[in-house]
Amino acid sequence: MKAAAFEFERATSVQHALTLMAKHGDDAKLIAGGQTLMATLNMRLSEPALLIDISSLTELREIKLTDTALRIGALTTHRDIERSALVAEHAPLLTQAAPHVAHIAIRNVGTLGGSLAFADPAAEWPVCAMALDATIVVVGAAGERRIAAREFFTDLYETQLAQGEIIVACEFPRQAAGTCNVFLELARRHGDYAIVGIAAVGRVANETIQGLQLSYLGMGSTPILARGAAAALEGKPLTEVNIDAMNAALANELDPSGDLYTQTATKHHLARVLTLRALRQLISGSNQ
Ligand SMILES: Cc1cc2nc3c(=O)[nH]c(=O)nc-3n(C[C@H](O)[C@H](O)[C@H](O)COP(=O)(O)OP(=O)(O)OC[C@H]3O[C@@H](n4cnc5c(N)ncnc54)[C@H](O)[C@@H]3O)c2cc1C
Repeated sequence: MKAAAFEFERATSVQHALTLMAKHGDDAKLIAGGQTLMATLNMRLSEPALLIDISSLTELREIKLTDTALRIGALTTHRDIERSALVAEHAPLLTQAAPHVAHIAIRNVGTLGGSLAFADPAAEWPVCAMALDATIVVVGAAGERRIAAREFFTDLYETQLAQGEIIVACEFPRQAAGTCNVFLELARRHGDYAIVGIAAVGRVANETIQGLQLSYLGMGSTPILARGAAAALEGKPLTEVNIDAMNAALANELDPSGDLYTQTATKHHLARVLTLRALRQLISGSNQ
């Protein structure tokens, strides 16, 4: 199938893109890497009258360190993130997660902003943004809005992004010294969307984890931050009793749907397996 006919405009600045969006409203759609949008156009799941190409706005493709955060521009590609020394130093969770995002050909063009805007619950960046308590920076006609990633993803493919707004960056707070990060996922084949994945972050002291954050992909209609499960283990050793308490909380917080290949109960089981694996890696310090 081929996409329905559409007009095409290349935005020359963020302001130009905002003006075009204000003028065309619901009839217009932004295109960044096109790795998701082109498929939806070709399947005619979306038929915008105008595509606004933002891919040449190089000012949205930078990775920089501020006093408080690592700021990654919305047009930074998955591959840029994977290969960035600054990201490896200040947000190593992203470096671990990047190779799991699709295949290199897709990572070369797909963007951070496109992934956050599309809000696929099986995608890697939304889950990392939640675990790291990132802030998504958007601009619209009324100016800039800063939205906590933990509040950004509202439902399946739904976000707080309003009509006419563009994601310009995502800010990942600088991590406290001694913070450990682990990203793990299970997929049928490497590069496929995962069945289940986890981002685990915390500071390890005396075989316990402080400030533990557990965030899951593929386990519900949005990425899920499992606050109850993390609280059950906060500052406690990985004993059988504590793991059972964590798993009980996790069962209430995760809400996966079964699919053709994996039943709901299997997904819960896989999430428990990955969680324990991630926690053991955190404690052993084998992933920083
Ligand atoms: C075969 C295949 C496998 C894939 N596997 C994975 C995977 O394992 N994990 C994963 O995370 N992703 C995967 N993807 C998706 C890929 O990562 C996409 O690159 C990403 O989801 C969207 O980024 P994009 O820049 O291509 O966005 P586009 O396709 O250009 O846009 C996607 C949506 O976001 C909107 N948008 C884009 N940029 C902005 C912005 N700055 N502000 C506001 N709205 C914006 C567009 O209007 C559109 O609605 C896969 C894709 C393919 C084709």
